[in-house]
Amino acid sequence: MASENKRLRIAITGGGLAGATLINALMKYPHIDVHIYKSAPEFSERGTAVGLAKNSQNALDEIGPSVKDALVAAGAVSMNSTRGAIASGPNAGKIIFDLVADVPPQGVHRAAFLKQLLAPVPREVMHNNKKLVKVEDAADGSIVLFFKDGSKEYADLLVGADGVHGYVREHILGADHPALQPTFAGFWDCRALVPFSKAKEVLGEECFKEHRRYVWSGDGGMFMHDVLDNGKMVQCVASKVTDEDWDPKEWKRDLDRETLENAFASWTNSPIVKNMIEVKLNDHQLLLQNPELQAFAQWDHHINAPTFYRGRVCVIGDSAHAMTPYHGAGAGQAIEDVMILETLLGEVKEPSQLDAAVKAYDEVRRPRVQRVVQSSNSTGRIMCGKGPDVGLDVDKLRAALGPRWAFLHEFDQKEHKFRALASFRGD
Ligand SMILES: Cc1cc2nc3c(=O)[nH]c(=O)nc-3n(C[C@H](O)[C@H](O)[C@H](O)COP(=O)(O)OP(=O)(O)OC[C@H]3O[C@@H](n4cnc5c(N)ncnc54)[C@H](O)[C@@H]3O)c2cc1C
Repeated sequence: MASENKRLRIAITGGGLAGATLINALMKYPHIDVHIYKSAPEFSERGTAVGLAKNSQNALDEIGPSVKDALVAAGAVSMNSTRGAIASGPNAGKIIFDLVADVPPQGVHRAAFLKQLLAPVPREVMHNNKKLVKVEDAADGSIVLFFKDGSKEYADLLVGADGVHGYVREHILGADHPALQPTFAGFWDCRALVPFSKAKEVLGEECFKEHRRYVWSGDGGMFMHDVLDNGKMVQCVASKVTDEDWDPKEWKRDLDRETLENAFASWTNSPIVKNMIEVKLNDHQLLLQNPELQAFAQWDHHINAPTFYRGRVCVIGDSAHAMTPYHGAGAGQAIEDVMILETLLGEVKEPSQLDAAVKAYDEVRRPRVQRVVQSSNSTGRIMCGKGPDVGLDVDKLRAALGPRWAFLHEFDQKEHKFRALASFRGD
């Protein structure tokens, strides 16, 4: 039921980077009463790092200092450049590109960023153990949220930031919609965080002369490493293309040394395989540093959803557009979603205007981000040596990969906001 409270009631489900960025951004509006509900018993992030490129940093600037400050407080590290190199076969060791961005990407540990985004949020608006199981429209226009524990809450707008396996997308699209479920993208990956000194010892001084991200492309896979946590840790990632079918309910598999070695067995003449998997230092190899090493299936929303909203319910982040990690863009696109949504909600003064706000959000965000989803998948195949007519040829890789990031990074966020506001106002 609508409360006496005249403030706009916004409910967010999901306490990942999308939900946390949104609640942080909305705190600045006195006319908004925002609450965040998360299924897990506490607000925390699993996984390793995200890199935020120029477009994401510009979007953070547009949202305001509180989110940008959170990035700095989380110990983000500037990646001065990205080096792509061939890692297997006759061309092993050859450099594909050295990219120096005018605005260097910031690498940040997810858990640290999440913690800082939530630091200014009052405890009383953060609700744990609240798994959303059903949503209904009330007669007075409110949205009713039903939780697994039997409780319910009311809001004027529900924003689903509940990730790739959440519930809100189903509420919007319907249980049988072909775009509902993410598709197995044909890759798995595994990740480990390693102390900087150990990574330097194993991978060599040359890799750490500056804070540079390395991407090593090989036969049907790639390795990546970059520096995090104010230079204290290094993230190591292995990605593999696979023909195996993963069950949609199987998000991850245990990974042992033998499976990892077999996955990269075809990589001849490859120091990076040796260093990541084989070199033994104080009883640990770089990837095998992670005692709970697991292969994570990569999923994406390959079938484009026809809408990101229904009534006064919308989706942002991975719930709207899960993608593979090859553009390094999933979190950045969630930040762009937040930038547009918070700009629009800043203008909404009464619930009846919410319909125009979510429509405008959908209109500007969906085409942009669905392009990123598709491009990320094909970029991954090229990076993993599987690009049609490209393979592991240095010149062809350079030509194929070189132009793939411009549409993503060189993006005018002010104009994006302007278009959303024009659509909202009906200009
Ligand atoms: C290997 C890898 C590398 C990546 N690298 C990058 C990168 O370099 N740069 C980049 O920008 N992006 C990157 N990404 C993508 C990025 O990590 C994600 O896009 C981003 O974290 C998604 O955030 P989210 O909040 O939308 O979803 P999630 O982080 O999945 O959060 C979803 C939240 O919803 C909660 N939830 C789920 N169901 C319910 C329910 N029914 N009720 C209530 N709560 C619920 C969950 O508990 C969780 O808190 C990478 C991803 C991967 C896998």
